[in-house]
Amino acid sequence: MTLVVSPPPDIPEVDLTTTYDAIVVGSGAAGGMAAHVLTSKGLKVLMLEAGKKLNVEAELRSMQWPYEHPRRGDAPPGFHALSFNEYNIRKPPYAQKSAYKHVYSYVGGWGGSDYVKNILVDEKDHPYSGTPYAWVRARALGGKTNIWGRLALRLSDYDFKAKSRDGYGEDWPISYADIEPYYDRVDRYLGISGHKEGLPHLPDSLFQRPNKLTAAEVKLRNALKPMGRTATPYRAGVTTDGVKNKYRSKCFGRGACQRRPGGCDIHAAFDSPTGLIYPAMDTGNLTLRTNSTAHEILVDPKTGKARGVAFVDSVTHKSLEAKGKVVIVAASTLESARLLLLSKSRQHPNGIGNSSDHVGHNFCEHIMGPGATGLVKELVGKQPTLDDGKPGGFYIPRFRNLTEKSDGFLRGYGFEGGSGQTIYPWSTNRPGFGSQYKKEVRDYAGAFINIGAFGEVLPRYENQVSIDPTLKDAWGIPVLKFDYKFGDNEKKMAEDMATSAKEMFEAAGIEIVGVDREVLTEGWSIHELGTSRMGNDPKTSVLNQFQQSHDVKNLFVVDGSSHVSASCQNPTWTIMALAWRSCDHLADEFRKGDL
Ligand SMILES: Cc1cc2nc3c(=O)[nH]c(=O)nc-3n(C[C@H](O)[C@H](O)[C@H](O)COP(=O)(O)OP(=O)(O)OC[C@H]3O[C@@H](n4cnc5c(N)ncnc54)[C@H](O)[C@@H]3O)c2cc1C
Ligand code: SF4
Repeated sequence: MTLVVSPPPDIPEVDLTTTYDAIVVGSGAAGGMAAHVLTSKGLKVLMLEAGKKLNVEAELRSMQWPYEHPRRGDAPPGFHALSFNEYNIRKPPYAQKSAYKHVYSYVGGWGGSDYVKNILVDEKDHPYSGTPYAWVRARALGGKTNIWGRLALRLSDYDFKAKSRDGYGEDWPISYADIEPYYDRVDRYLGISGHKEGLPHLPDSLFQRPNKLTAAEVKLRNALKPMGRTATPYRAGVTTDGVKNKYRSKCFGRGACQRRPGGCDIHAAFDSPTGLIYPAMDTGNLTLRTNSTAHEILVDPKTGKARGVAFVDSVTHKSLEAKGKVVIVAASTLESARLLLLSKSRQHPNGIGNSSDHVGHNFCEHIMGPGATGLVKELVGKQPTLDDGKPGGFYIPRFRNLTEKSDGFLRGYGFEGGSGQTIYPWSTNRPGFGSQYKKEVRDYAGAFINIGAFGEVLPRYENQVSIDPTLKDAWGIPVLKFDYKFGDNEKKMAEDMATSAKEMFEAAGIEIVGVDREVLTEGWSIHELGTSRMGNDPKTSVLNQFQQSHDVKNLFVVDGSSHVSASCQNPTWTIMALAWRSCDHLADEFRKGDL
């Protein structure tokens, strides 16, 4: 059963002879927000999306029980997901000599891979080269928002003005006061669940009803208070009280949130198509063309300004062009860098918007791996509780380098965590056999708790992507080459993550079952940021504070590539708040004829 109030609007044939007010490339969080804001201000917008439009409810099947699926949710034979070892022992392009018919990123190896096999890209068609990197991509209308983990956090001036605090890198050209009204708009329009904590380094949102913490989580929260740390209910980009949007229902705490790589077929969890794109289509101002892979931003030879986008039809491989007065790139951090670098012309020999030589550089994200698993002994053998089917567990915000300086590293990290009874018990490694074993598993099922950290990776000019001189994708478009690795600051931070995870469980009287110290491959966080950073100086930045190219005034890049530093908070809510702010500005400039 699914509960979708209204079917998506029809997608009519696209007229490529029209000159649109704006062309948006990409339909994820960033592109969806650009389309929403610009169409609501009356601009005629064409959205080009490389992936297909999926019948996403049929893909996600959130209410399907494992026993209703022939392979308990696994993808059919011939589908292979890359493992941690493959990422590290081998080098990209990982799928090149694979005997498997289809190869996916590691996310395709989570339980329920059948539900995402048409959303994630097949690495065979989408190779890349260079240093190890676990690059997770989704090519479908809505991009990664179809399956994102929904943790929706704000940044603060601890992030925007980090250089002023510790001297490293660059400050953002905006402060929290500039973006706060736009975070509020995103909260109101899309819905976010959470609990107010009043922390200066993790500002509260305009929350709807939060998740209930489990008994283990309450125990941890109480123990952390005297340490000046907080375990707060997961701040989920999920509407729990409902929003005014006929394509979305409110969360009623069921479904596959916790047991598959995301996805909510009633769209209580935000996704770009139902949250942003379909309502934008209903204004009559948005034209959508899926299966349209952009490979060059076209330039007017007289003015050097953007005049349109060259793309290939992803199905027919036919080359086509779309015309626009403004071009908005929102293909996700790394794909946007690729598109800018591919767009070489006489006026922009280094790639469009790249006179600073900073496109592709200052690439940053979050380091992951360290964490801990614990056992809350007094919960063993207790009555089962219903903890499955909720948008998330809890979040412990950053506590390092706020009021005092930590030894050995700059910036900080936060923890995501969970506990309680889930459809698959965590305790299957209990000793025993037969009915005794079953009893052990049931007794321990709700007593475990785990936390895993996400830490800020410092932006460094030398961490970069560039265009590979020879390798091409299945459409003949040159691909990215990675030259990216964690540095000493990240490694020292990772050691501290494991130590503090253990310390917090011990303080709460939670028995340590295991401490993870291993750092996961670069890219694992799926939070790639910073390849076209904003700044006030055109020599050291690509975009101004409105994500507008310093070089080409009718070119905007509104995704995570504009971020000046990664912070340690998950980026999607910030991507959307910034895109809203920039598109407000864009629409004003457009009306004045200033673009
Ligand atoms: C499993 C998973 C869990 C996650 N959990 C969280 C979380 O808890 N919190 C959080 O904040 N973030 C999370 N993320 C990350 C989040 O999904 C991204 O930050 C967000 O989707 C970025 O939005 P975007 O628009 O920049 O990119 P995307 O959502 O990737 O959208 C980009 C779109 O552009 C299209 N495109 C790419 N190249 C081209 C081209 N050349 N021409 C035309 N179209 C193109 C793509 O097909 C895609 O549809 C998670 C991601 C995944 C996969
Ligand atoms: S728990 Fe809520 S957000 Fe998650 S799948 Fe179910 S309805 Fe959707």
